[in-house]
Amino acid sequence: MRAATLSIGDELALGQIDDTNARWLADRLAELGLYRDEHRTVADDVDAIERAMRELAAGGPRDVLVVTGGLGPTADDLTRDALNRCCDHGAPMVEDPLARADLDRWFRGRGRAMPTSNLVQALRPQSAVCLRNPNGTAPGLAASIEHAGGRSTRIFCLPGPPREMQPMFVADVEPHVRSVARGRAMPTVAVHSFGQGESTLAERLGPLMDRTHDPSIGTTASRSIVTARIRTSGAPDEARAKIDAAARLVEERWAPYAYARDGRSLASVVVELLRERRATLAVAESCTGGLVGSMITEVAGSSDVFLGGGIVYANQLKTRFARVDPSLLEQHGAVSEEVAAALALGIRSEVGATWGIGITGIAGPGGGTATKPVGTVFIGRSGPDGTQVRRFQMPGERDIVRDRSAKSALQWLRFALLGVEAPFLWGVERA
Ligand code: ATP
Ligand code: MG
Repeated sequence: MRAATLSIGDELALGQIDDTNARWLADRLAELGLYRDEHRTVADDVDAIERAMRELAAGGPRDVLVVTGGLGPTADDLTRDALNRCCDHGAPMVEDPLARADLDRWFRGRGRAMPTSNLVQALRPQSAVCLRNPNGTAPGLAASIEHAGGRSTRIFCLPGPPREMQPMFVADVEPHVRSVARGRAMPTVAVHSFGQGESTLAERLGPLMDRTHDPSIGTTASRSIVTARIRTSGAPDEARAKIDAAARLVEERWAPYAYARDGRSLASVVVELLRERRATLAVAESCTGGLVGSMITEVAGSSDVFLGGGIVYANQLKTRFARVDPSLLEQHGAVSEEVAAALALGIRSEVGATWGIGITGIAGPGGGTATKPVGTVFIGRSGPDGTQVRRFQMPGERDIVRDRSAKSALQWLRFALLGVEAPFLWGVERA
């Protein structure tokens, strides 16, 4: 059971807007048991659209092709014409009375006269059906391409704007896909980890990652988060159980770095752990400039556990808000083990939190020295069992150094809350 998707539009082909439809559709199709194994983007060119429709439908052949965009009333909206060429040899199109009535109603409801250019939106290829659009003027279209051997591909053309496309998919495409997929499902699970490299983590999975393994497991890395994506297909309950078992196995092999599934953030996991332990947190951030606080406050309900803290960039703020002893700053410099520890302990006791985090480092590109090059970061963690510091050497540009530092602080706090300890890929273990 396979599907393809096709996005139409110059802006998409030029990369001026992000193709969020392609991803949304792939997710929905997979949930419904259809593997979207090819996607294309083409510009507003009727020949190119027609060619893409034919080729995407023919591959396999595929059961379903979902096209988005190019259904509007303007001269650059050519999806309707391309579909007509594919399914009805370019025969004259017909006006659909229901689509016409919907269009009339749409404009009447807004007290506007319908521009004649909109009339084209009520046209459909002779063999096509119109799909109603309660959220805009462009109706969708559905038609079939017949292949040799009696098989056919159902083509759905949906409007480009996501808020029009998505409800139409649910109302008109889903029922068809469900009937094609006949009770099969293709569920996926993602397991996210932070703190180790992709190759090390892949090694830990070993033969689980073989192309022939079922469920299939692949890894990706994005902003230092390594994710395992697990996929299978079959009867819904069975398939669910199978990927769930595989996800548990991945979590075991990736312990303690694996922190959550399916897009849940590291910060939300930390917030939950703090809440379970009735603990609170305060932060004193220098080189991360409030990133840790930002990640935590992105989580709804984080006020239960997050007291706040300070962006203590200048030395006088480190002294004033986190009570760092000025002599430490003088003796060891602001970027030092001693100051990271003092920041964590200082903000914790100043605010009265269970846990305190202090971060100080050199995010670059300037400011590095021979003993403390760019990417040197010290993270202090202070809690009921005392105060510890870890030194990191973060590779990458300023933005990456800051991001990795904030996430490392969260992951290291998570370790403490779970009572585990493990090295980080960028950790500098003391001799
Ligand atoms: P309209 O009647 O609004 O013109 P349409 O079906 O002709 O609808 P397009 O003109 O192709 O759609 O796109 C309209 C808008 O929809 C785009 O400007 C863009 O904002 C959004 N859009 C189109 N395709 C996509 C896509 N693949 N992903 C995300 N947004 C999209
Ligand atoms: Mg348009």
